[in-house]
Amino acid sequence: MPELVFFSGTMDCGKSTLALQIEHNRSTRGLVGMIFTRDDRAGEGKLSSRLGLVTDAVEVEDGVDLYAYIVEHLSQGGRADYVIADEAQFLAPEQIDQLARLVDDLDIDVFAFGITTDFRSKLFPGSQRLVELADRVEVLQVEALCWCGSRATHNARTVGGVMVVEGAQVVVGDVNHSADEVGYEVLCRRHHRRRMTAASAHAAALSPDVLPVSPS
Ligand SMILES: [Zn+2]
Repeated sequence: MPELVFFSGTMDCGKSTLALQIEHNRSTRGLVGMIFTRDDRAGEGKLSSRLGLVTDAVEVEDGVDLYAYIVEHLSQGGRADYVIADEAQFLAPEQIDQLARLVDDLDIDVFAFGITTDFRSKLFPGSQRLVELADRVEVLQVEALCWCGSRATHNARTVGGVMVVEGAQVVVGDVNHSADEVGYEVLCRRHHRRRMTAASAHAAALSPDVLPVSPS
């Protein structure tokens, strides 16, 4: 049975690496996939992983009907034995419905990869729709770690290394960023709630104001 599978996790948990691995495994078996992405760190029309691998992909624009796109592709003699949708958190809910329709009406496997929650720990609309519709939700096993060593379950947005909790839901940044840019860092829930990034934890450790023993 074809399935809609949602591979979810934090940033930096290896989602795109797994997407590229699925693509590799299937293409070496003679299958032809359609790869959708949106706002990949490597630029438009790319699916890239932190480990340096990259492949071409179709950049999904606002309002594109993904079901109609595949039907058109097939009607022109193209093949799509399966679909990979990376950065699926950035897709609109109706585009997730279109992916489900590919599974149900065209018997195509769809593998969607996305971050579940944004920097405020709220669900992205695309991810919410995936949780609602997916046949399976797989939480990725490659666990990202908070600076404290705990399992990182939350995404923090930073500006100049300081965690922010307000702003637009989608601002493209990266975990490798210069000091004053928007960046992202994965944290455990405790440190997300306390807004303690690696940089602020380091600063706090160096400050005499926060020593646990007060001077007598
Ligand atoms: Zn932590």
